Amino acid sequence: MLIKRPKGTQDIIPGTIEKWHFLEEQIRKICQEYGYQEIRTPVFEATELFQRGVGETTDIVNKEMYTFLDKGQRSITLRPEGTASICRAYVENKLYAQTLPVKLYYLGPMFRYENTQAGRYRQFHQFGIEVLGVENPLVDAEVIQLLWDFLQRLGLQGLEVHINSVGCSHCRAVHREKLQTFLEDRKDKLCSDCQSRLERNPLRILDCKNKNCQALTVEAPTTLDTLCPDCQEHWESVQHYLKMGDISFKINPKLVRGLDYYQKTAFEVMAKGIGAQSAICGGGRYDGLVEEIGGPSTPGIGFAVGLERILAAMQSQKIEIECTDKTSVMVAVLGDKARQVGFQLANQLRQRGIIAFMDLMGRSLKSQMKYADRVGSRYVLILGEEELEKGIIIVRDMKLGDQKEIAKADLIEFIQNIDSSEFEI
Ligand code: AMP
Repeated sequence: MLIKRPKGTQDIIPGTIEKWHFLEEQIRKICQEYGYQEIRTPVFEATELFQRGVGETTDIVNKEMYTFLDKGQRSITLRPEGTASICRAYVENKLYAQTLPVKLYYLGPMFRYENTQAGRYRQFHQFGIEVLGVENPLVDAEVIQLLWDFLQRLGLQGLEVHINSVGCSHCRAVHREKLQTFLEDRKDKLCSDCQSRLERNPLRILDCKNKNCQALTVEAPTTLDTLCPDCQEHWESVQHYLKMGDISFKINPKLVRGLDYYQKTAFEVMAKGIGAQSAICGGGRYDGLVEEIGGPSTPGIGFAVGLERILAAMQSQKIEIECTDKTSVMVAVLGDKARQVGFQLANQLRQRGIIAFMDLMGRSLKSQMKYADRVGSRYVLILGEEELEKGIIIVRDMKLGDQKEIAKADLIEFIQNIDSSEFEI
């Protein structure tokens, strides 16, 4: 029986991979411009890292982790997100001893055992940034600015940036009590998930997707109502800087984010045209996280963008992805001797950074020309017995349908400097 790929995973095959390369290039470019350095952490970690770093009460930890015992009986989990691993790496590699802030970015696959649907996979890819070591609200704005800039450069339209402040642990305690009091009378009407959240993590009730729960919390106290003076000042500064950066945003008091350690700023970006899973990015401040996993008290903020959803949004908005047009040639040969010379020629071209194809299937000359067209080679070098004898090679411009004879000794230089005007009559 045919073995298929696991549910919720995708093969990224030629024809699509170019889009990923383009996106990855854009990511590296913008991160460098904003002064972020790449970090790569393992795709699997000790399960405890996510239990503590994402939070025991979250759906990710409770329902969605790929957890298994390895052969040494250690509990291992495929990373469901990037922030916890980066905080661990920050502590383990003592990155805090470097000049602060530490500004990092990452790119790679994440794993969550989710109910799959369009835009929701079990293996998906995130690009994220993290800034560790600064409390200043200017950083919150810079992080959102980078995100906004990235999405603008891709040409995405109709995006909505939602922001909120969920306060610090002091204001959260006040809010929690108010919210529990408010929900106490409505408890029986909440969905079963929210009934259990009421004790463990009532804040999450505010972003429950259940319509009934949403109706019940319309009037519920929000975290913005209970911000302490410090958090209020931070919140106002973030908004001020965002306005200075010309970023239009919506204040969404119901935005609380899934992770337990978010503090103060929380944000999300939604895109149109990609169906129900419209969130393309989520982020926020997590000032308590590094300490929670055993490091020194360190403020942190970051975001993660879902790359599948970005590509889906680009596709739905018909945004063309530019591919760099490198010269590509096809060495078409006729006869055994020509094949051997052609083989060497193709290698010499590749040494000079030119993309060179050769017939590997023993095709006729006509089929080799068709193949050249299919692999996108604009120029075909034709080499048969006659050309070998004369010491020349025919260079054909497939686009203009014109050709020239070039002395074999001059060929490499000719191709290196090739320009279609050579062929125009
Ligand atoms: P989160 O880490 O849950 O805040 O997610 C950040 C971003 O990652 C989301 O806005 C999505 O774009 C993307 N994302 C999260 N979960 C999935 C998934 N299961 N499949 C595809 N993309 C996802």
